[in-house]
Amino acid sequence: MVDAVNPDGSDIESPANVAVFRVRVPLLRSQHSAHHDLIDRESILVRWQRTDGHVGWGECPTLPTPGYATETTAEAWSWLIGPALGSLSETGSIPDSPARPAALGAIRDAALDARLRSESISAAALFGEREQVPTTAVVALAGGVIDEVVDRAVALAADASALKLKVVPDSALEVARAVLDAVGPIPVALDANGSFDPDPTAVDAERLASLLALPLAYIEQPYPPRAPLERWRSLAVAGDVPLAVDESATSIGEVRTALRSGACSIVSIKPARLGGVLAASAVADAVVEEGGTCFVGGMFELGVGRSTALRLAASGSCRLPTDVGPTARYLEEDITEAVGSTGDGGVWVPVGSGLASAPDPERLRRWTVDHAATDRRRPD
Ligand SMILES: [Mg+2]
Repeated sequence: MVDAVNPDGSDIESPANVAVFRVRVPLLRSQHSAHHDLIDRESILVRWQRTDGHVGWGECPTLPTPGYATETTAEAWSWLIGPALGSLSETGSIPDSPARPAALGAIRDAALDARLRSESISAAALFGEREQVPTTAVVALAGGVIDEVVDRAVALAADASALKLKVVPDSALEVARAVLDAVGPIPVALDANGSFDPDPTAVDAERLASLLALPLAYIEQPYPPRAPLERWRSLAVAGDVPLAVDESATSIGEVRTALRSGACSIVSIKPARLGGVLAASAVADAVVEEGGTCFVGGMFELGVGRSTALRLAASGSCRLPTDVGPTARYLEEDITEAVGSTGDGGVWVPVGSGLASAPDPERLRRWTVDHAATDRRRPD
């Protein structure tokens, strides 16, 4: 087992060089949810080089607009090329920034990846030894066209262990019924991304009551993160469908409170929202301690973040199918070696030392739209 590493990065050695890359990668098809429409995936990669020459990678998979997470790509980029690279240049230390968990997490993950490679340690020693993990295929809104959602769900069900439908209040019931009728026995969950009104007198209360009567695996984030826990608890006891927190799961304290209050029983663990994979692992362990279950959620990561998230998904604390799927579900070509499907509803967990799969140099060059580094040279 590797020595303990603090999630705040305080015991990570000063780097020789840190570089950040803003990249834009074409998606196979546009993605729609309650908060965003994506036609390509703009993401940020961090490269950490140690003084011993070993290099590690981390990804900041923020989105262009707030909603899904409060930290946007533009904000994360500004912080990385300003305060973060400034602090690393001047002092060699990682600055703390609770408002920038994804950017901070990318730096921490890159530093950890480099350290594990330097010491020839596999992330499996930190998290888990599973070689493959089951996946949930996430079905986008498809502009509200239900036939398209059903067709997409049927196609994805062939190579997934579960399905998750992105829904909005006015069409959720119709979409859920249509997909449940079409896909057979595969577990189906809903993700509302906080779009239902928690006011008990609102029309959404009736809509949720109807959804709770369906044979769903769980309903994720029905209410916005700031909705009273009492509203969650009332919904949780109103039916047999478990509730999951996603956007609400921003810290270990929030997660413990939600589970203890009976507001939910499932937690979506997203390394980028929690400040990196080590911090996320601690939250996953806390979920188990509180009697809940969890899964590693997805943020349309490219291969760097996807491979890192899968290392955590292999841990014994993350028992439900992960949202992190094979590359081919989203991209013609990934910036790293593709994350591969097992062919029976799962994905292969990366093997070998380190945490993340490294980007292919040629694809990194082709898709980089901006870059910066601590030593102000164009990185390789
Ligand atoms: Mg979600």
